[in-house]
Amino acid sequence: MKRRKTQEVPLGPLIVGGEHPIWVEAMGRKHPGDWKACLGEIDQAFSRGCEIFRVAVFDEEGIAGLREIRKKRQNLPLVADIHFTMQLAFQAIEVGVDAIRINPGTVPNQLVLERLIEFARDRGVVLRIGANAGSLPHVFRGKERSQALFESIAECVNLAEKKGMKYLILSAKSSSVEETVTVYRKLHENFSYPLHIGLTEAGSGLEGIVKSSVALGILLEEGIGDTLRVSLTSRSPVLEVEVGWEILKALGLRSRGVRIVSCPTCARVRGDVVSFVREFRKAIAPFEKALGLTIAIMGCEVNGPGEAREADFGLALSGGGKAVLFARGEVVAVVSQKEGIDRLASLVRERVKGEEKTT
Ligand code: SF4
Repeated sequence: MKRRKTQEVPLGPLIVGGEHPIWVEAMGRKHPGDWKACLGEIDQAFSRGCEIFRVAVFDEEGIAGLREIRKKRQNLPLVADIHFTMQLAFQAIEVGVDAIRINPGTVPNQLVLERLIEFARDRGVVLRIGANAGSLPHVFRGKERSQALFESIAECVNLAEKKGMKYLILSAKSSSVEETVTVYRKLHENFSYPLHIGLTEAGSGLEGIVKSSVALGILLEEGIGDTLRVSLTSRSPVLEVEVGWEILKALGLRSRGVRIVSCPTCARVRGDVVSFVREFRKAIAPFEKALGLTIAIMGCEVNGPGEAREADFGLALSGGGKAVLFARGEVVAVVSQKEGIDRLASLVRERVKGEEKTT
């Protein structure tokens, strides 16, 4: 796939767009007024790979908390999500956020929007114009929704451009995969600003993960998207970060941690692949920053040796309680299945230590 090139927009220490990585964004669940709880959430999300953090700010306590968060995490790419009370957007900019997310459907009037655009522009703060199918401006209601989403964004972009605002990121989310894909294609055809992609209100658990993966997978495969967020109904932002990364990894767009190729098992299986995978994940948890390694754990001689040979390291179960270990395509040992996971984890450990010495 060819990534479609967009303009570069600085967001704190990151550059969004151009040929820069597709960054993973998450949104906090805690009230920013409880800034200590918020920081805990931020640290947890960042330990799982979050790169941009968005906080909903809707009262003065939130602004006070935001000030503490900024003091404590000066390099954190921080976005304030503001609806209705635009005065809070001005205050958030003064506190030092890197971007303000506004929704064309919840901005009270054009005059305040013009003032906000000028205020953000003069301070080098990014404006993310993020429309949402659930809160379209009245004038666009009744139109086909992907068209209404597009038009509401286009109206805001025109205004921002008239004001000489350069740092824009656009997003238009719906809970429908089809609408989301349609509107992002339109945005890409018509604007060169970076796009923040995601499905809104995707749901929870498996349903939300599958819907988000399908929508984001289609867009990313078409080269569309510069930042992403997977919106899942959950009490913490950790899962949305993990799913975002898995989508990027599955498409070969980013690499992080170990990629495990394991078979689903069938009646031919020569041992307990499910436990092998679980134990292996536990054994390598301290080395999960082992970037881009592919590990195969396979259940028998049918596809096992082939997959294991292709991986950086692999283990294929075989008869008589044995397991064959592979390293970079070569058989390195035939061991008992009991020893298999320890030996495989040692190969990863040695590789990571070797890389640390050379860097
Ligand atoms: S590798 Fe072997 S055990 Fe695993 S699914 Fe394929 S045939 Fe079945």
